[in-house]
Amino acid sequence: MTELSRRIDQSIRTIPNFPKEGIQFKDITPLFLDYRLCNDITHFLAEQAAGKVDVVCGVESRGFLFGATIAQQLQLPFVLIRKSGKLPGDTEKIDYELEYGSSAIEVHKGFIQPGQRVLIHDDLLATGGTAAATASLIEKCGAIPAQFSFIIELAFLAGRKNLEKFPAEIITAVSYS
Ligand code: AMP
Repeated sequence: MTELSRRIDQSIRTIPNFPKEGIQFKDITPLFLDYRLCNDITHFLAEQAAGKVDVVCGVESRGFLFGATIAQQLQLPFVLIRKSGKLPGDTEKIDYELEYGSSAIEVHKGFIQPGQRVLIHDDLLATGGTAAATASLIEKCGAIPAQFSFIIELAFLAGRKNLEKFPAEIITAVSYS
């Protein structure tokens, strides 16, 4: 573990059986009580993406928190990826399968340009389903998923497997095996 991953590990909480029985929920809200730690997380993830991406996408909703600060740090555009029905303008949309049922995510049309290299950021990598759907949406816009970044990886769920088909590296600040 790096010093940064140790500090993140000490800050976040694991809440058992939230939002349903059997889930060990990683609560990142305590990170935001420590502005120095937030600053260091932003710097670390921005450094990993510097020169490799043209735009940053944050995945609803906790991916907005650091996605926006990483984009500011890199002086790049920030684009919101939202659940279906939340964005007011015309959108590109993609449907994807969940463990039970299906879901859809959207992005405002024209906010991602064909050929752009995209950083896809979310707070946590679990099965990789959300990140894979986001990358497919980016490809539907004609752009390139160039990097995935997460604060937390639940490595025992092997979410990386789901992301192998994309030409993107995967950066995580702290990983649990
Ligand atoms: P997945 O699509 O399975 O990789 O799930 C990733 C998304 O679900 C992220 O947006 C996470 O915020 C959320 N998520 C999944 N599992 C957890 C967990 N154990 N603790 C906190 N958030 C989670």
